[in-house]
Amino acid sequence: MTVYLHEGDLPAGVLAPGPVAVDSETMGLNPHRDRLCLLQISDGRGDEHLVRFAPGEYDAPVLKAVLADPERLKLMHFARFDMAVIHRFLGVWATPVFCTKIASKLVRTYTDRHGLKDLLKETLGVEISKQQQSSDWGAGELSDAQKEYAASDVRYLHRAHGVLVERLRREGRTHIAQACFDFLPTRAELDLAGWPEADIFAHL
Ligand code: MN
Repeated sequence: MTVYLHEGDLPAGVLAPGPVAVDSETMGLNPHRDRLCLLQISDGRGDEHLVRFAPGEYDAPVLKAVLADPERLKLMHFARFDMAVIHRFLGVWATPVFCTKIASKLVRTYTDRHGLKDLLKETLGVEISKQQQSSDWGAGELSDAQKEYAASDVRYLHRAHGVLVERLRREGRTHIAQACFDFLPTRAELDLAGWPEADIFAHL
């Protein structure tokens, strides 16, 4: 199990076929203001790849091809944000997508704790640290703690996906989850186009 740090793009051929877990770290939570600093990706077989971007240098053809590959399911937690940032900086829609946060909301209706930490603790019995979440991801040198944090955000998404698929099936909510996932690029586009908070389905 190794965490690899790459500059500017993913090397070709490092990922096995199949679903990939994806997360991103940015300078903040405003996709208009805050740049993409790091993108984490894993094929679920034990290694995590971190791709770091210098300001303004988002020409990453290998990574973009993986993210846009219609044959590869992208697993993300709160995909709405990552998809908006990926689209803004890398110019691709990371679809098809499975959002573990949406799935959690559709099946873990007995709690309002849908953060990744709480989801992994309950479904897998795994503890991850969120200590480095609010740190300087644009720094010239990432600390070991930052790299470990970034990697741990994608490390367990394949296993969580497996649990959530089964729970969605059990509760008869697979179809509504899929419809939500299919809507995600539109939701992200609304965020980027200036309707971040508005519920366009609401009466008022
Ligand atoms: Mn993260």
